[in-house]
Amino acid sequence: MTTPPPATGTGEHSATTRDELPATMRAWRLHEWGSRPTLDRVPVPRPGPGEVLLKVDAAGLCHSDLHIMDSPEGRLPYTLPFTLGHEVVGTVVAVGDRAEEHWLGLTCAVHGVWSCGECRKCRSGRDNYCVRLDGAIGGGIGLDGGLADYILVPSARHLVGVDPTAGTALAPLTDAGLTAFHAVDSQPVDVAGAVVVVIGIGGLGHLALQVVRSRSPEVVVAVDPRRGARDLATELGADHAVASVAEAVDLVARLSGDTGADLVFDFVGVQDTVTAGARMLATGGGLTVVGSAGGSLTVDKQGSVPRGWRVAAPFWGPHADLAAVLGLAADGEIASVVEERTMDEVPAAYEDLRRGRASGRLVVVPGRDPSAA
Ligand code: NAD
Ligand code: ZN
Ligand code: ZN
Repeated sequence: MTTPPPATGTGEHSATTRDELPATMRAWRLHEWGSRPTLDRVPVPRPGPGEVLLKVDAAGLCHSDLHIMDSPEGRLPYTLPFTLGHEVVGTVVAVGDRAEEHWLGLTCAVHGVWSCGECRKCRSGRDNYCVRLDGAIGGGIGLDGGLADYILVPSARHLVGVDPTAGTALAPLTDAGLTAFHAVDSQPVDVAGAVVVVIGIGGLGHLALQVVRSRSPEVVVAVDPRRGARDLATELGADHAVASVAEAVDLVARLSGDTGADLVFDFVGVQDTVTAGARMLATGGGLTVVGSAGGSLTVDKQGSVPRGWRVAAPFWGPHADLAAVLGLAADGEIASVVEERTMDEVPAAYEDLRRGRASGRLVVVPGRDPSAA
Protein backbone atom coordinates (compact mmCIF):
# COMPACT_ATOMS: atom_id res chain seq x y z
CA MET A 1 0.00 0.00 0.00
CA THR A 2 1.13 3.54 -0.60
CA THR A 3 0.09 6.56 1.35
CA PRO A 4 -0.17 9.84 -0.51
CA PRO A 5 2.06 12.68 0.62
CA PRO A 6 0.38 15.30 2.83
CA ALA A 7 -1.87 17.85 1.19
CA THR A 8 -0.24 21.12 0.31
CA GLY A 9 -2.92 22.84 -1.77
CA THR A 10 -4.88 25.90 -0.79
CA GLY A 11 -8.26 24.23 -1.16
CA GLU A 12 -9.51 26.77 -3.68
CA HIS A 13 -11.38 25.28 -6.59
CA SER A 14 -9.61 24.68 -9.86
CA ALA A 15 -10.03 21.32 -11.59
CA THR A 16 -6.72 19.73 -12.53
CA THR A 17 -6.36 16.87 -14.95
CA ARG A 18 -3.36 14.66 -15.42
CA ASP A 19 -3.97 13.82 -19.06
CA GLU A 20 -6.30 15.11 -21.71
CA LEU A 21 -9.69 13.53 -20.91
CA PRO A 22 -11.93 12.22 -23.68
CA ALA A 23 -15.38 13.78 -24.00
CA THR A 24 -17.28 10.51 -23.65
CA MET A 25 -16.85 7.04 -22.20
CA ARG A 26 -18.49 3.63 -22.05
CA ALA A 27 -20.68 2.75 -19.04
CA TRP A 28 -22.89 -0.25 -18.21
CA ARG A 29 -26.05 1.40 -16.93
CA LEU A 30 -29.24 0.07 -15.42
CA HIS A 31 -32.25 1.87 -16.91
CA GLU A 32 -35.18 -0.24 -15.73
CA TRP A 33 -35.89 -2.45 -12.75
CA GLY A 34 -36.03 -6.13 -13.65
CA SER A 35 -33.87 -5.63 -16.73
CA ARG A 36 -30.25 -6.04 -17.83
CA PRO A 37 -27.84 -3.09 -17.97
CA THR A 38 -26.99 -1.58 -21.34
CA LEU A 39 -23.69 -0.26 -22.66
CA ASP A 40 -24.11 3.48 -23.06
CA ARG A 41 -21.85 6.26 -24.22
CA VAL A 42 -21.97 9.05 -21.65
CA PRO A 43 -19.94 12.19 -20.94
CA VAL A 44 -16.78 11.72 -18.89
CA PRO A 45 -17.64 13.50 -15.63
CA ARG A 46 -15.47 16.48 -14.64
CA PRO A 47 -14.74 16.68 -10.90
CA GLY A 48 -16.21 19.56 -8.94
CA PRO A 49 -14.85 20.86 -5.62
CA GLY A 50 -13.62 18.01 -3.43
CA GLU A 51 -14.32 15.36 -6.05
CA VAL A 52 -11.84 13.04 -7.74
CA LEU A 53 -12.01 11.29 -11.09
CA LEU A 54 -10.44 7.87 -11.52
CA LYS A 55 -9.69 5.97 -14.69
CA VAL A 56 -11.00 2.50 -13.88
CA ASP A 57 -8.35 -0.20 -13.84
CA ALA A 58 -10.67 -3.01 -12.71
CA ALA A 59 -14.23 -3.48 -11.47
CA GLY A 60 -15.47 -6.69 -9.85
CA LEU A 61 -18.89 -8.16 -10.58
CA CYS A 62 -20.88 -8.92 -7.43
CA HIS A 63 -23.93 -11.11 -6.95
CA SER A 64 -25.57 -8.03 -5.44
CA ASP A 65 -25.55 -6.55 -8.97
CA LEU A 66 -27.86 -9.40 -9.97
CA HIS A 67 -30.12 -8.77 -6.96
CA ILE A 68 -30.22 -5.08 -7.93
CA MET A 69 -31.07 -5.63 -11.59
CA ASP A 70 -33.64 -8.33 -10.70
CA SER A 71 -35.42 -6.11 -8.16
CA PRO A 72 -38.96 -5.01 -8.96
CA GLU A 73 -39.65 -1.30 -9.05
CA GLY A 74 -40.04 0.18 -5.58
CA ARG A 75 -37.99 -2.36 -3.64
CA LEU A 76 -34.72 -0.41 -3.62
CA PRO A 77 -34.45 3.31 -2.83
CA TYR A 78 -32.36 4.17 -5.89
CA THR A 79 -33.16 6.38 -8.85
CA LEU A 80 -32.49 4.98 -12.31
CA PRO A 81 -30.47 5.10 -14.45
CA PHE A 82 -27.09 4.59 -12.83
CA THR A 83 -23.85 2.86 -13.77
CA LEU A 84 -23.22 -0.48 -12.04
CA GLY A 85 -19.88 -1.58 -10.54
CA HIS A 86 -19.14 -1.16 -6.83
CA GLU A 87 -15.78 -2.98 -6.51
CA VAL A 88 -13.36 -0.57 -8.06
CA VAL A 89 -9.65 0.07 -8.34
CA GLY A 90 -8.49 2.95 -10.52
CA THR A 91 -5.97 5.69 -11.06
CA VAL A 92 -6.70 9.28 -10.14
CA VAL A 93 -6.63 11.33 -13.36
CA ALA A 94 -8.39 14.54 -12.32
CA VAL A 95 -9.24 16.36 -9.12
CA GLY A 96 -11.68 19.19 -8.57
CA ASP A 97 -9.66 20.98 -5.97
CA ARG A 98 -6.05 21.98 -5.53
CA ALA A 99 -6.10 20.38 -2.07
CA GLU A 100 -6.46 16.99 -3.75
CA GLU A 101 -3.72 17.44 -6.35
CA HIS A 102 -1.38 15.11 -4.47
CA TRP A 103 -3.73 12.22 -5.34
CA LEU A 104 -3.11 12.68 -9.08
CA GLY A 105 -1.49 9.60 -10.63
CA LEU A 106 -2.05 7.37 -7.59
CA THR A 107 -3.68 3.98 -7.98
CA CYS A 108 -6.43 3.63 -5.41
CA ALA A 109 -9.04 1.24 -4.13
CA VAL A 110 -12.44 2.89 -3.76
CA HIS A 111 -14.31 2.36 -0.50
CA GLY A 112 -17.83 1.89 -1.83
CA VAL A 113 -19.85 3.22 1.11
CA TRP A 114 -19.92 6.94 0.39
CA SER A 115 -20.57 7.91 4.00
CA CYS A 116 -20.99 11.45 5.30
CA GLY A 117 -17.90 11.36 7.53
CA GLU A 118 -19.65 13.40 10.22
CA CYS A 119 -22.53 11.48 11.82
CA ARG A 120 -22.13 9.54 15.06
CA LYS A 121 -21.49 6.25 13.20
CA CYS A 122 -18.89 7.81 10.94
CA ARG A 123 -17.17 9.50 13.86
CA SER A 124 -16.94 6.16 15.69
CA GLY A 125 -15.36 4.41 12.71
CA ARG A 126 -18.56 2.55 11.78
CA ASP A 127 -18.97 4.52 8.56
CA ASN A 128 -20.48 1.48 6.78
CA TYR A 129 -23.52 2.18 8.98
CA CYS A 130 -23.56 5.94 8.26
CA VAL A 131 -27.00 7.11 9.39
CA ARG A 132 -27.27 9.60 6.53
CA LEU A 133 -27.10 6.87 3.87
CA ASP A 134 -30.79 6.05 3.67
CA GLY A 135 -30.98 5.91 -0.14
CA ALA A 136 -28.10 5.33 -2.53
CA ILE A 137 -25.02 3.81 -0.87
CA GLY A 138 -22.29 4.73 -3.33
CA GLY A 139 -20.98 4.20 -6.84
CA GLY A 140 -22.72 1.20 -8.42
CA ILE A 141 -25.34 1.05 -5.66
CA GLY A 142 -27.70 3.85 -6.55
CA LEU A 143 -25.04 6.24 -7.89
CA ASP A 144 -22.76 5.99 -10.94
CA GLY A 145 -20.22 3.22 -10.36
CA GLY A 146 -17.12 1.80 -11.92
CA LEU A 147 -18.39 -0.46 -14.68
CA ALA A 148 -17.20 2.29 -16.98
CA ASP A 149 -13.98 3.82 -18.24
CA TYR A 150 -14.04 6.46 -15.48
CA ILE A 151 -15.65 6.86 -12.08
CA LEU A 152 -16.30 10.12 -10.23
CA VAL A 153 -15.82 9.75 -6.47
CA PRO A 154 -17.31 12.51 -4.27
CA SER A 155 -14.30 12.75 -1.97
CA ALA A 156 -10.73 11.46 -1.74
CA ARG A 157 -11.80 10.35 1.76
CA HIS A 158 -13.19 7.23 0.09
CA LEU A 159 -9.86 6.23 -1.47
CA VAL A 160 -7.05 4.04 -0.18
CA GLY A 161 -3.75 4.16 -2.09
CA VAL A 162 -2.57 0.75 -3.34
CA ASP A 163 0.49 -0.68 -5.04
CA PRO A 164 -0.03 0.08 -8.75
CA THR A 165 1.68 -3.20 -9.68
CA ALA A 166 -0.66 -5.31 -7.52
CA GLY A 167 -3.06 -5.81 -10.42
CA THR A 168 -6.74 -6.39 -10.97
CA ALA A 169 -7.08 -8.87 -8.08
CA LEU A 170 -7.28 -5.91 -5.70
CA ALA A 171 -10.71 -4.83 -6.98
CA PRO A 172 -12.67 -7.65 -5.26
CA LEU A 173 -11.07 -6.75 -1.96
CA THR A 174 -13.08 -3.52 -1.84
CA ASP A 175 -16.38 -5.41 -1.39
CA ALA A 176 -16.04 -9.21 -1.43
CA GLY A 177 -12.88 -9.02 0.70
CA LEU A 178 -13.99 -6.16 2.91
CA THR A 179 -17.45 -7.60 3.59
CA ALA A 180 -16.00 -11.04 4.33
CA PHE A 181 -13.33 -9.55 6.62
CA HIS A 182 -15.82 -7.39 8.50
CA ALA A 183 -18.18 -10.38 8.92
CA VAL A 184 -15.40 -12.48 10.43
CA ASP A 185 -13.70 -9.70 12.35
CA SER A 186 -16.79 -8.45 14.13
CA GLN A 187 -17.46 -11.80 15.87
CA PRO A 188 -17.32 -11.74 19.65
CA VAL A 189 -16.38 -15.47 19.54
CA ASP A 190 -12.72 -16.13 18.81
CA VAL A 191 -12.18 -17.90 15.48
CA ALA A 192 -9.12 -19.61 16.98
CA GLY A 193 -10.17 -23.09 18.08
CA ALA A 194 -13.69 -22.72 16.69
CA VAL A 195 -15.75 -25.08 14.53
CA VAL A 196 -16.54 -22.84 11.56
CA VAL A 197 -18.88 -23.33 8.60
CA VAL A 198 -18.70 -21.16 5.48
CA ILE A 199 -21.69 -21.48 3.15
CA GLY A 200 -21.26 -20.36 -0.49
CA ILE A 201 -17.71 -20.33 -1.83
CA GLY A 202 -18.12 -17.64 -4.49
CA GLY A 203 -16.73 -14.09 -4.55
CA LEU A 204 -17.26 -13.39 -0.86
CA GLY A 205 -16.99 -16.93 0.47
CA HIS A 206 -13.59 -17.72 -1.04
CA LEU A 207 -12.14 -14.64 0.66
CA ALA A 208 -13.93 -15.31 3.97
CA LEU A 209 -12.46 -18.79 3.97
CA GLN A 210 -8.97 -17.31 3.79
CA VAL A 211 -9.62 -14.80 6.57
CA VAL A 212 -11.01 -17.61 8.76
CA ARG A 213 -8.10 -19.90 7.88
CA SER A 214 -5.56 -17.25 8.91
CA ARG A 215 -7.00 -17.30 12.47
CA SER A 216 -6.33 -20.93 13.43
CA PRO A 217 -9.83 -22.42 13.63
CA GLU A 218 -10.26 -25.98 14.93
CA VAL A 219 -12.02 -27.09 11.76
CA VAL A 220 -13.52 -25.37 8.71
CA VAL A 221 -16.38 -26.83 6.70
CA ALA A 222 -17.14 -25.25 3.32
CA VAL A 223 -20.50 -25.73 1.60
CA ASP A 224 -21.20 -25.22 -2.09
CA PRO A 225 -23.18 -27.28 -4.62
CA ARG A 226 -20.60 -26.55 -7.34
CA ARG A 227 -17.73 -28.98 -7.71
CA GLY A 228 -15.30 -26.24 -8.79
CA ALA A 229 -16.17 -24.13 -5.75
CA ARG A 230 -15.59 -27.09 -3.42
CA ASP A 231 -12.21 -27.78 -5.05
CA LEU A 232 -11.30 -24.10 -4.61
CA ALA A 233 -12.37 -24.29 -0.95
CA THR A 234 -10.10 -27.26 -0.37
CA GLU A 235 -7.21 -25.46 -2.08
CA LEU A 236 -7.80 -22.45 0.15
CA GLY A 237 -7.59 -24.54 3.30
CA ALA A 238 -11.10 -25.84 4.11
CA ASP A 239 -10.82 -29.13 6.02
CA HIS A 240 -14.05 -30.42 4.50
CA ALA A 241 -16.09 -29.34 1.49
CA VAL A 242 -19.65 -30.61 1.09
CA ALA A 243 -22.32 -30.00 -1.54
CA SER A 244 -25.32 -29.08 0.61
CA VAL A 245 -26.26 -27.60 3.97
CA ALA A 246 -28.03 -30.88 4.79
CA GLU A 247 -24.68 -32.68 4.49
CA ALA A 248 -23.05 -29.93 6.53
CA VAL A 249 -25.55 -30.39 9.37
CA ASP A 250 -24.63 -34.10 9.62
CA LEU A 251 -20.91 -33.50 9.21
CA VAL A 252 -20.80 -30.75 11.84
CA ALA A 253 -22.67 -33.01 14.28
CA ARG A 254 -20.09 -35.74 13.72
CA LEU A 255 -17.04 -33.46 13.82
CA SER A 256 -18.16 -31.66 16.95
CA GLY A 257 -19.43 -34.68 18.88
CA ASP A 258 -22.98 -33.35 18.52
CA THR A 259 -22.10 -29.97 20.05
CA GLY A 260 -22.50 -27.94 16.82
CA ALA A 261 -20.68 -25.13 15.02
CA ASP A 262 -19.39 -22.07 16.88
CA LEU A 263 -19.57 -19.80 13.85
CA VAL A 264 -21.63 -20.16 10.69
CA PHE A 265 -21.17 -17.66 7.87
CA ASP A 266 -23.90 -17.74 5.25
CA PHE A 267 -22.85 -16.09 1.98
CA VAL A 268 -26.00 -17.28 0.18
CA GLY A 269 -28.96 -16.35 2.38
CA VAL A 270 -31.71 -18.50 0.84
CA GLN A 271 -34.27 -20.08 3.16
CA ASP A 272 -32.46 -23.43 3.20
CA THR A 273 -29.09 -22.03 4.20
CA VAL A 274 -30.44 -19.66 6.84
CA THR A 275 -32.55 -22.42 8.45
CA ALA A 276 -29.72 -24.97 8.35
CA GLY A 277 -27.23 -22.39 9.60
CA ALA A 278 -29.31 -21.85 12.74
CA ARG A 279 -29.77 -25.61 13.20
CA MET A 280 -26.02 -26.24 13.09
CA LEU A 281 -25.14 -23.81 15.87
CA ALA A 282 -23.48 -24.81 19.11
CA THR A 283 -24.63 -23.23 22.33
CA GLY A 284 -23.19 -19.71 22.44
CA GLY A 285 -22.61 -19.88 18.70
CA GLY A 286 -23.20 -17.20 16.10
CA LEU A 287 -24.91 -17.23 12.71
CA THR A 288 -23.83 -14.44 10.38
CA VAL A 289 -26.02 -13.96 7.33
CA VAL A 290 -24.31 -11.97 4.60
CA GLY A 291 -26.09 -13.38 1.53
CA SER A 292 -29.05 -11.32 0.41
CA ALA A 293 -31.13 -14.00 -1.33
CA GLY A 294 -34.27 -13.44 0.73
CA GLY A 295 -34.27 -16.18 3.40
CA SER A 296 -35.69 -15.28 6.80
CA LEU A 297 -35.25 -16.59 10.29
CA THR A 298 -37.45 -16.65 13.37
CA VAL A 299 -35.50 -16.50 16.58
CA ASP A 300 -36.82 -16.77 20.12
CA LYS A 301 -35.65 -17.79 23.55
CA GLN A 302 -37.75 -20.95 23.58
CA GLY A 303 -35.29 -23.23 21.84
CA SER A 304 -35.55 -22.42 18.12
CA VAL A 305 -31.80 -21.77 18.30
CA PRO A 306 -29.33 -22.94 20.96
CA ARG A 307 -28.78 -21.03 24.21
CA GLY A 308 -26.64 -17.93 23.88
CA TRP A 309 -27.50 -17.52 20.18
CA ARG A 310 -26.40 -14.56 18.17
CA VAL A 311 -27.57 -13.70 14.69
CA ALA A 312 -25.92 -10.94 12.71
CA ALA A 313 -26.46 -9.45 9.28
CA PRO A 314 -23.42 -7.22 8.78
CA PHE A 315 -23.29 -4.79 5.90
CA TRP A 316 -20.09 -4.26 3.85
CA GLY A 317 -17.32 -2.84 6.08
CA PRO A 318 -15.80 0.40 7.36
CA HIS A 319 -13.08 2.34 5.58
CA ALA A 320 -10.49 1.37 8.19
CA ASP A 321 -11.17 -2.32 7.54
CA LEU A 322 -10.52 -1.80 3.81
CA ALA A 323 -7.00 -0.66 4.65
CA ALA A 324 -6.65 -3.74 6.89
CA VAL A 325 -7.86 -6.07 4.11
CA LEU A 326 -5.47 -4.52 1.59
CA GLY A 327 -2.71 -4.97 4.18
CA LEU A 328 -3.56 -8.67 4.56
CA ALA A 329 -3.34 -9.05 0.78
CA ALA A 330 -0.03 -7.16 0.66
CA ASP A 331 1.29 -9.56 3.33
CA GLY A 332 0.17 -12.56 1.26
CA GLU A 333 -2.40 -13.72 3.86
CA ILE A 334 -5.32 -13.50 1.45
CA ALA A 335 -5.65 -13.24 -2.33
CA SER A 336 -8.65 -12.96 -4.61
CA VAL A 337 -8.99 -15.62 -7.25
CA VAL A 338 -10.10 -13.71 -10.34
CA GLU A 339 -11.16 -14.30 -13.92
CA GLU A 340 -10.76 -11.21 -16.11
CA ARG A 341 -13.34 -10.04 -18.63
CA THR A 342 -13.49 -7.12 -21.07
CA MET A 343 -16.20 -4.42 -21.09
CA ASP A 344 -17.75 -6.05 -24.15
CA GLU A 345 -18.02 -9.33 -22.27
CA VAL A 346 -20.06 -7.89 -19.36
CA PRO A 347 -23.46 -9.42 -20.35
CA ALA A 348 -21.90 -12.88 -20.73
CA ALA A 349 -19.97 -12.39 -17.49
CA TYR A 350 -23.15 -11.56 -15.53
CA GLU A 351 -24.76 -14.65 -17.06
CA ASP A 352 -21.78 -16.74 -15.90
CA LEU A 353 -22.17 -15.28 -12.41
CA ARG A 354 -25.89 -16.05 -12.42
CA ARG A 355 -25.34 -19.63 -13.58
CA GLY A 356 -22.46 -20.26 -11.16
CA ARG A 357 -19.87 -20.64 -13.90
CA ALA A 358 -17.28 -18.31 -12.36
CA SER A 359 -14.49 -19.27 -10.00
CA GLY A 360 -13.74 -16.74 -7.28
CA ARG A 361 -14.55 -13.30 -8.68
CA LEU A 362 -15.17 -12.03 -12.22
CA VAL A 363 -13.33 -8.75 -12.79
CA VAL A 364 -13.89 -6.39 -15.70
CA VAL A 365 -10.79 -4.64 -17.01
CA PRO A 366 -11.89 -1.73 -19.25
CA GLY A 367 -8.38 -1.20 -20.61
CA ARG A 368 -8.34 -4.69 -22.12
CA ASP A 369 -10.83 -3.90 -24.89
CA PRO A 370 -9.56 -2.79 -28.24
CA SER A 371 -12.28 -0.11 -28.06
CA ALA A 372 -11.07 1.25 -24.70
CA ALA A 373 -11.46 4.99 -24.24
P1 NAD B 1 -21.36 -15.54 -5.85
O1 NAD B 1 -22.38 -15.85 -6.86
O2 NAD B 1 -19.99 -15.19 -6.29
O3 NAD B 1 -21.23 -16.76 -4.83
C1 NAD B 1 -22.34 -17.44 -4.30
C2 NAD B 1 -21.90 -18.90 -4.07
O4 NAD B 1 -22.92 -19.57 -3.35
C3 NAD B 1 -21.70 -19.66 -5.38
O5 NAD B 1 -20.45 -20.32 -5.35
C4 NAD B 1 -22.85 -20.65 -5.39
O6 NAD B 1 -22.53 -21.88 -6.04
C5 NAD B 1 -23.08 -20.86 -3.91
N1 NAD B 1 -24.42 -21.34 -3.57
C6 NAD B 1 -25.60 -21.09 -4.22
N2 NAD B 1 -26.59 -21.74 -3.57
C7 NAD B 1 -26.04 -22.38 -2.51
C8 NAD B 1 -26.56 -23.21 -1.46
N3 NAD B 1 -27.86 -23.47 -1.39
N4 NAD B 1 -25.70 -23.70 -0.54
C9 NAD B 1 -24.39 -23.42 -0.60
N5 NAD B 1 -23.82 -22.64 -1.56
C10 NAD B 1 -24.66 -22.13 -2.50
O7 NAD B 1 -21.96 -14.38 -4.93
P2 NAD B 1 -21.18 -13.26 -4.08
O8 NAD B 1 -20.90 -12.10 -4.97
O9 NAD B 1 -20.13 -13.90 -3.28
O10 NAD B 1 -22.36 -12.76 -3.10
C11 NAD B 1 -22.90 -13.65 -2.14
C12 NAD B 1 -24.11 -13.00 -1.48
O11 NAD B 1 -23.68 -11.95 -0.60
C13 NAD B 1 -25.09 -12.35 -2.46
O12 NAD B 1 -26.41 -12.57 -1.99
C14 NAD B 1 -24.74 -10.88 -2.36
O13 NAD B 1 -25.81 -10.05 -2.72
C15 NAD B 1 -24.41 -10.78 -0.89
N6 NAD B 1 -23.57 -9.63 -0.52
C16 NAD B 1 -23.84 -9.03 0.66
C17 NAD B 1 -23.06 -7.99 1.10
C18 NAD B 1 -23.34 -7.37 2.42
O14 NAD B 1 -22.75 -6.36 2.75
N7 NAD B 1 -24.21 -7.92 3.25
C19 NAD B 1 -22.00 -7.55 0.31
C20 NAD B 1 -21.73 -8.17 -0.90
C21 NAD B 1 -22.52 -9.24 -1.30
ZN1 ZN C 1 -21.18 -6.35 -3.67
ZN1 ZN D 1 -22.19 9.35 8.42
